Amino acid sequence: MDFHLVHNWKGKVKIGGKYLGKEKIFIAGPCSIESREQAMIIAKEVKKSGASAFRGGVFKPRTSPYSFQGLGKAGLKILADVREKTGLPIVTEVMDTRDVKLVSECADVLQIGARNMQNFSLLKEAGKSDSAILLKRGLSATIEEWLLSAEYILKEGNCNVILCERGIRTFEKYTRNTFDVSAIAVAKTLTKLPVIGDPSHAAGRKDIIIPLSKAALAAGADGLMIEVHNDPENALSDKEQALTPQDFAWLMKEVKG
Ligand code: PEP
Ligand code: MN
Repeated sequence: MDFHLVHNWKGKVKIGGKYLGKEKIFIAGPCSIESREQAMIIAKEVKKSGASAFRGGVFKPRTSPYSFQGLGKAGLKILADVREKTGLPIVTEVMDTRDVKLVSECADVLQIGARNMQNFSLLKEAGKSDSAILLKRGLSATIEEWLLSAEYILKEGNCNVILCERGIRTFEKYTRNTFDVSAIAVAKTLTKLPVIGDPSHAAGRKDIIIPLSKAALAAGADGLMIEVHNDPENALSDKEQALTPQDFAWLMKEVKG
């Protein structure tokens, strides 16, 4: 397969006004924004530990329609405040083409989640946006399908694309997904776009996030996305995989050496 744009891409990815250079990017924050207080506590803590961007979902792609769906527009306002108070660039998911403009106003990076990796209308709309796009690999997507999805965004003129490996669905049950470290290494051979690893959604459990983070970086990842919560036991989504701010500080020490 010829990846016209991904393969020939020579630009630089810009996040929150700063070009991603040789420095690794560490995106940290809760799975979901639950309240202003929760978001502020976590953002301040992860910033102290060296996070370069804050994440938090307000439009949540939940398997069950009865699970917490996110704060929606009210959550965007909280994210805007976090950006203003901490100076951290904001990463948040957009699920609907109609929300791309609105989310872009509060976010520096629009996340396209695993379940939407082949939502071609959303990819095209994201391609028309000025924001950087964090493109997660789909649950059962091949590396080729993942890169072709990135092509959809680049083809519309948005070159600010970050690829994110977040684990794929396999027969294995000890982990939520299987972290495909080889996909990080392969993607790095096929494109100069930054590739980051999300060991949180791959593992689905907090006790192996540090070794998986190290594995991602050893495979050539340009950064990590890690879920962090101030009260993991009571988190409204993905509580099993959430690190505490203290755990995250430890992770940062371990990976930065
Ligand atoms: C998330 O980042 O919280 C998320 C829902 O991720 P994914 O699309 O990888 O499942
Ligand atoms: Mn999550």
